[in-house]
Amino acid sequence: MADGARAGSPVRTRFAPSPTGEVHIGNVVAVLISASLAKRHGGQFFIRIEDTDRARFTEGAEQLIYDSLHWLGIEWDEGPDNGGPHGPYRQSERLDRYKVYTQQLLDSGRAYKCWCSPERLDQMRRDQQAQKLAPRYDRLCYGKTEDQRRALPGYTERYTVRLVMPTTGTFTFTDAIRGEISFEYATQQDPIVVRADGFPVYHLAAMADDHDMGTTHIVRGEEWISTTPVHHQVFDALGWTPPIIAHSPLLLNVDKGKISKRKHPWAKMQWFMEEGFLPEAIVNYLGNLIAFVPDPGNPDPSIARELFGLEEIAAHLDLSKIGPSGKIIDLPRLEWLNGQYIRRLPLDEFRRRVLPYMAAAGMADVDQDTLAGALPLEQERIKRLSEAPQVLSFFFQDEEYDPKLLIPKGLDKQRTLEVLEAARQAIEDLAKEGPGWTAAPIKEQLWPLAEALGVKTGQLFGAGAVRVAVTSRIVGPPIFETMEVLGPDTVRRRLDAAIEKLRGHESI
Ligand code: GLU
Repeated sequence: MADGARAGSPVRTRFAPSPTGEVHIGNVVAVLISASLAKRHGGQFFIRIEDTDRARFTEGAEQLIYDSLHWLGIEWDEGPDNGGPHGPYRQSERLDRYKVYTQQLLDSGRAYKCWCSPERLDQMRRDQQAQKLAPRYDRLCYGKTEDQRRALPGYTERYTVRLVMPTTGTFTFTDAIRGEISFEYATQQDPIVVRADGFPVYHLAAMADDHDMGTTHIVRGEEWISTTPVHHQVFDALGWTPPIIAHSPLLLNVDKGKISKRKHPWAKMQWFMEEGFLPEAIVNYLGNLIAFVPDPGNPDPSIARELFGLEEIAAHLDLSKIGPSGKIIDLPRLEWLNGQYIRRLPLDEFRRRVLPYMAAAGMADVDQDTLAGALPLEQERIKRLSEAPQVLSFFFQDEEYDPKLLIPKGLDKQRTLEVLEAARQAIEDLAKEGPGWTAAPIKEQLWPLAEALGVKTGQLFGAGAVRVAVTSRIVGPPIFETMEVLGPDTVRRRLDAAIEKLRGHESI
């Protein structure tokens, strides 16, 4: 099996984020693949924080990474927070090791110090651009001692370390997802592996860690494909065997364009958390993009299962079947799926998940009995938990609305007033002597009014008249159930107010 364990070594995969303050949805796909792969083979999945680029460091970013994964239900066996046998798991705490490897590369001649000043490198880049040449370091420092180099222009004391890349031939590797990929060495330049500040760059630090931490599969974003030749050189130069490398599929917008953080706020994982998506829906949706999970209830094995979670992804993930093409994120489809998961939550759980959104909207102290009655009605309708405060607010307060909304299609102000007054009277009768204030008798009492008044039931209870009077909006949950939850006093008060509003509104 292409994604299987190497002889004798258990599968070890990792998530190696840079703590930049956000988790891209594309990273989540790589995480899902990595974590599922470890689970499938009974191996380990760990987190390594790649924080050597101090300029990009953001306070709180590490916690956000943990929170995002916890939220998704993805657990890790080792990491900066829970330790493990291959720690430390933060690159900033592993600098001594990188120094040893850097020295090894320098001693063996597989890397060299570069004393070229930023100004010289800049000028070189501009000249190459002007001549329409690919940017490439001209190796001025290669093979020189510091004294020899100092004698030449464009010298700076603060040196970087560059890896020696072959200049001819072809590099080919087998990407576990995309198959064979080749690069001509002629297109490569000697990359910097240690910056002037002494910190190693990703090329060195991540590869050294993946070796030291026993990573068997590097699963990472497709933006790293072109640097794979460099990474293989690092492994080769240090005498190590490279792990299996897989570049996860690119995520696309429905227009097949690349998802960008600038244009698509939902490129960031936080957006889904804030907007009331359920982790189950995200896992399921992304899982669908990377794994085929057959439906056990269907005799046709080509039919995919609709709803599934991390266990099923782990059981069915096969790197060689993910495919190299970009995967489309269709937000409306994801919202639909989210709605499916919302409907399936036990009521208690739905309530627990909705409460933070209520609190954030200043609705933490609403009447709990009313909430208990209203939640099941809205659970059937919303697609995101974040909609809850907006769709529930009328249960707790009388709200303003345009009196024109009271007039349904096909009726005028006068007829609407008649309808509302009749409804008001029917409610009065029911509340006084009726068989109790629940949806069924309310309906029994109000439904025949339509025929009696010569209007359609849609005009009475649809997008106008009674619905707007009682809920202050034209769409909402089933009207009789809503009236039951609101109670007779509120319904009467709102019908009175609606009649008042309509009467007093001259311009209608
Ligand atoms: N720190 C790199 C990133 O965040 C890690 C890439 C990898 O997984 O190796 O893109």
